[in-house]
Amino acid sequence: IKQKIAALGPDEKFISFEFFPPKTDSGFRNLLARLNRMSALNPLFITVTWGAGGSTSEKSLDLAATCQNDLGLTTILHLTCTNTNKEIIDEALKRAKESGIRNILALRGDPPRAEEYWTPNCDFNSAVDLVRYIKENYGDYFCIGVAGYPEGHVDGSDGADQNPQKDIPYLIEKVEAGADFIITQLFYDVDKFIAYDSLLKSYAQLKDVTLIPGLMPITTYKVFTRASKLSHASIPKTISRKLEASVGNDDAIKSLGVEIVSDIINTITSKTSIKGFHFYTLNLEKAVASILKNSTVMQTIMERASSTEESINDDAIA
Ligand code: FAD
Repeated sequence: IKQKIAALGPDEKFISFEFFPPKTDSGFRNLLARLNRMSALNPLFITVTWGAGGSTSEKSLDLAATCQNDLGLTTILHLTCTNTNKEIIDEALKRAKESGIRNILALRGDPPRAEEYWTPNCDFNSAVDLVRYIKENYGDYFCIGVAGYPEGHVDGSDGADQNPQKDIPYLIEKVEAGADFIITQLFYDVDKFIAYDSLLKSYAQLKDVTLIPGLMPITTYKVFTRASKLSHASIPKTISRKLEASVGNDDAIKSLGVEIVSDIINTITSKTSIKGFHFYTLNLEKAVASILKNSTVMQTIMERASSTEESINDDAIA
């Protein structure tokens, strides 16, 4: 990923997509067909999530290997390190390497559901321990990404004092341990992301690390409210008013969603030097394709894509 980003021209932008492994074989087949279509959108890379505690390890590894080898997509495997054991991590890294995967998103993971208090296991307490472990055991074979939180990670805060500044020393630790790029938690408050970008740029250790904003398309009001709540993303009043006025009208929510996320992309592009945007696709394609078509800045990517690939057919989009 680091090399691919470095190879982009000064004004060139990129996009990337996150997918999760479906539970069933038919879901897996459907996703592959969708991935094939979405590769026409020209993502620089795609990422495959890892279920908490390694709960999806087989399926995540299968999907990541298929994307990397059969679909020819540069793939990042997410890997979490707590609430699991070293054997699972060793096996995941070994199989990722055997599958030709060169990129890992090194994460801590969340506490098991229903456990309010938890003790991380003794091998790995934080994501930095996984970054160090990968470097110790694989040197520079893997390019490593880590998570960043434009509104601050919720741990150790009561919500009211959630603050990105608090995570900075640990983000620096992750970068000094060998992380090459940062993908952020989803957000809808673009000013908070822009402030976060400036905050990172004010630290010598972080200013040159690629920061990739994470965006979740808005497909339904229910999914939007649930995802924002789970990720502790604040919603600016302008956005909540627009969406609330259209609750019950799914088509209106979808088109407002496209408008809202396209505006975020356009604002970030006009005010920062951010080069790429990562989409939490929820395994859906239509919303992402519509956002890209609606966003002026993404047109170069679309043009590049359509010059090399067959352009995506709206009617075929699920
Ligand atoms: P860390 O970097 O370890 O940070 C967690 C918290 O601990 C922060 O508040 C940090 O400031 C603090 N901290 C770190 N080090 C120390 C220290 N030494 N002392 C005290 N405090 C410290 N989860 C999944 O289960 N599967 C996935 O596939 C997945 N993908 C994700 C992708 C992205 C882009 C993002 C942003 C999150 C993803 N998550 C995933 C969720 C992630 O696992 C959680 O957000 C988790 O709570 C924190 O992970 P982290 O890697 O940021 O942890």
